[in-house]
Amino acid sequence: MEPYDLAVVGGGVVGCAVAREASKYELSCALLEAKADVGAGTSKANTAIWHTGFDAKTGTLEQRLLARSYMLLLDYVPDRGIPHEKTGAVLIAWNEDQLASLEGIVEKAHANGVADVRLLSVEEVYELEPHVNRDALGGVMVPGESIICPFTVPLSYAYEAVMNGARLYREFPVGKIEEDGGVHVLSGPGGEVKARFVVNAAGLNSDVIDGMFGFDRFHVTPRRGELIVFDKLSRPLVNHVLLPVPTERTKGVLVSPTVFGNIMVGPTAEDLEDKEATCTSKAGLEYLWAKGEAIVSKLMKEEVTCTYAGLRAATEFKDYQVFSHPEKRYLCLGGIRSTGLSASLGIAEYAMELLAEAGLSLEEKKEFRKVRMPYIGQKEKRPYQSEEKIREDPDFGRVVCHCERVTLGEIRRALRSPVPPGTLEGLKRRTRCMQGRCQGFYCSADVAHVFQTEAQKEDHPGEASHE
Ligand SMILES: Cc1cc2nc3c(=O)[nH]c(=O)nc-3n(C[C@H](O)[C@H](O)[C@H](O)COP(=O)(O)OP(=O)(O)OC[C@H]3O[C@@H](n4cnc5c(N)ncnc54)[C@H](O)[C@@H]3O)c2cc1C
Repeated sequence: MEPYDLAVVGGGVVGCAVAREASKYELSCALLEAKADVGAGTSKANTAIWHTGFDAKTGTLEQRLLARSYMLLLDYVPDRGIPHEKTGAVLIAWNEDQLASLEGIVEKAHANGVADVRLLSVEEVYELEPHVNRDALGGVMVPGESIICPFTVPLSYAYEAVMNGARLYREFPVGKIEEDGGVHVLSGPGGEVKARFVVNAAGLNSDVIDGMFGFDRFHVTPRRGELIVFDKLSRPLVNHVLLPVPTERTKGVLVSPTVFGNIMVGPTAEDLEDKEATCTSKAGLEYLWAKGEAIVSKLMKEEVTCTYAGLRAATEFKDYQVFSHPEKRYLCLGGIRSTGLSASLGIAEYAMELLAEAGLSLEEKKEFRKVRMPYIGQKEKRPYQSEEKIREDPDFGRVVCHCERVTLGEIRRALRSPVPPGTLEGLKRRTRCMQGRCQGFYCSADVAHVFQTEAQKEDHPGEASHE
């Protein structure tokens, strides 16, 4: 097989964004993902805030790429139908020290180009958020902070990458990278792929892949973040993303609406060594419970729908670990810790600039195929609510997952998508099925049956239009 011009290792939100960006050009690109699906690592378990970068350290690469990405996403997100809500965020001070730091937070936001950030009096905080506890002292309004669907973003990138010619290899954990006459040979239990240029977007394993190129310059320490998701009946209790005053180490525990109509509390920040430790813990949940009580105690009387945890690719450094090595035709996009969802398009654009400088020839394609993603949020109409859709295909009126109102038509559509789900987990992220109150207790058997029978019917997955 001819070597690819470019191989991207890691199909998280960053790797998918890079593969999508690369697919705009006349070059061959392979996206290599260890798991059965894209977006199944850290990118599936975050807090799902589309950050403005108002609180990022001024002048860092992270801050620069967040600011650029925010602008790029302003076009991309609505155009592709990605569920999002511009709720804005209210940052709240709960003690005198925090109150004293608010002016500095506004100044930093302005220095970062987020000009609409402003101080709030305590009266304004309560006007905006009538249900928060009564011991707030003041706040800051960040109008641009938004909530977004964390599943649809990487999927949208991956769909577009594949639709525009990138080749996705799933269950392809890269275990070795060797140089063979100007070509990298990437191999592992999934087989062998050759490529002239390699981008390392391996998230928690970005240090390991970096090591395969002979470097030992950063170590990824998984920083676990646990979260609690509350039932949709709690949604009226919170209007904005409620932020704490951030510390040097973490953005702290926030209370936020989700695009699925829930409220969540989290995340924790705990350094571990195990890169697979995505279980929640008694201590973590107790900590979150106490934090939630201190912010909106009314919320803690509501039903819990689920808990989950994700692992940030934290390193000993505070900034992204981006290194370009033209002599090795290698680009490292490591340590993209707590803002990668928001910064993804900015990172991808920057990656292409660095690859071009390193000698990768970038000739723009005449045509780029765009995707329109199936809407799985709560705010706009879903297929089961649309007479027109149901008339078009009665399976959009046949509900399989009752908690989240996911229909047979949506499951079938997901199975025909440019990157069909290989597993029920993947189907969950594409449709929302089994993510509701019952967490699949009532519907998982039906969903599994539909998944199996429909998957068998599909001779040509990936051919259906997503418009
Ligand atoms: C609790 C928590 C809250 C967060 N909240 C937010 C937020 O609100 N907003 C925001 O913007 N960001 C947030 N983030 C950060 C964001 O989720 C990450 O920065 C982003 O998902 C990182 O994407 P990635 O592609 O670098 O990593 P990943 O999503 O982990 O992708 C890396 C991929 O590489 C694959 N891989 C690893 N090794 C190999 C190998 N050897 N061969 C092939 N493939 C390999 C993995 O399977 C994985 O799929 C949060 C993170 C956490 C944990």
